[in-house]
Amino acid sequence: MGTIRLMSTTLANQIAAGEVVVRPASCVKELVENSLDAGAKTITVTLREGGISEITVQDDGIGMDEADAVMAFDRHATSKVYDERDLVRIRSLGFRGEALASIAAVAKVTLTTRTRDSERAAEVTIEGGEMAPLRHVGAAPGTRIEVRDLFYNTPARLKYMRTVQTEQAKAVEVVQKAALSRPDVSFCCQTEHHVLFQTPGNGDVRTVLASLYGVGEAKQLLAIEETTPDYKVSGYIGRPTQGRGTRAHAHLFINGRPVRHIGVHQAVIQGYRNRLMVGKQPIYAISIEMDPGLVDVNVHPHKAEVRFSEEADVTRCVARAVAAALDSTLLAPTPERST
Ligand code: ADP
Ligand code: MG
Repeated sequence: MGTIRLMSTTLANQIAAGEVVVRPASCVKELVENSLDAGAKTITVTLREGGISEITVQDDGIGMDEADAVMAFDRHATSKVYDERDLVRIRSLGFRGEALASIAAVAKVTLTTRTRDSERAAEVTIEGGEMAPLRHVGAAPGTRIEVRDLFYNTPARLKYMRTVQTEQAKAVEVVQKAALSRPDVSFCCQTEHHVLFQTPGNGDVRTVLASLYGVGEAKQLLAIEETTPDYKVSGYIGRPTQGRGTRAHAHLFINGRPVRHIGVHQAVIQGYRNRLMVGKQPIYAISIEMDPGLVDVNVHPHKAEVRFSEEADVTRCVARAVAAALDSTLLAPTPERST
């Protein structure tokens, strides 16, 4: 008899979780994306000990019925992509169907969810890959997911957790990016002790920036806008004097998805020409809308990286948008003083 065996689902999920859930921040990212995909208008994220001991994400989205509440934890279970053709026109944030399965493999999870037509909520608890029988509870329509003791059963991974402050900062940055990408959704990000920031969900990106960085800072930002037949670039950039020491205030969104792209970041810097001080990074929240066929989001399990089919067109458009906004503000003739 051979020695090869199929591994158990629990083990397979734990291994896969290594790619999807590396720290509390990645867990927060997946849960918030699910809430946005569910059409939530209000999302509350609560972090205990930087999210290591508990992460709770509560939304007022469409919720799940009982069958879906159980099915949601299966690997490759998704309501967002049904066949290969869907993959080239992804509009939802999720599509891999592995976040909940992965999270449940490395943490203790309680899901409470209720659809609008249902009179009661379904509650499902999973620990160590084992699901307890579904219970009925009272709750408002929407979904609440509680993730406790992340990596309690994978000590090797737990060892890599940094300090509570570091983990919290990374998780908060994820919520900040989500809030910037969806100014129409009200976000509340809090710890067990206090509210870190809250956005009103009034649709205005500058208001979100004010919630994150303060009203004074947000007021100074310059609006940018550039439209070509294929791309629409919009958002806000800092004045050269608002440069920062790190890239933490540089936010890029492609079709509403927070991503990193070094080429676009360099295009922004290029747009400043020589106006930024040496060693300073620009502060910006830039959004690019394009045909989903022109961008591949399925490059990496975190979906944090993208590949453009026409990268040069994208970067040219961004650099032009940034340069135009700076030129029109900084080169504008100052009103002459009458003597
Ligand atoms: P994916 O987001 O890639 O589909 P997930 O594992 O993150 O995979 O979620 C599996 C499924 O569970 C989703 O497709 C969705 O149908 C359901 N789901 C997860 N979170 C929520 C939520 N907050 N509200 C409603 N449905 C949800
Ligand atoms: Mg998801």
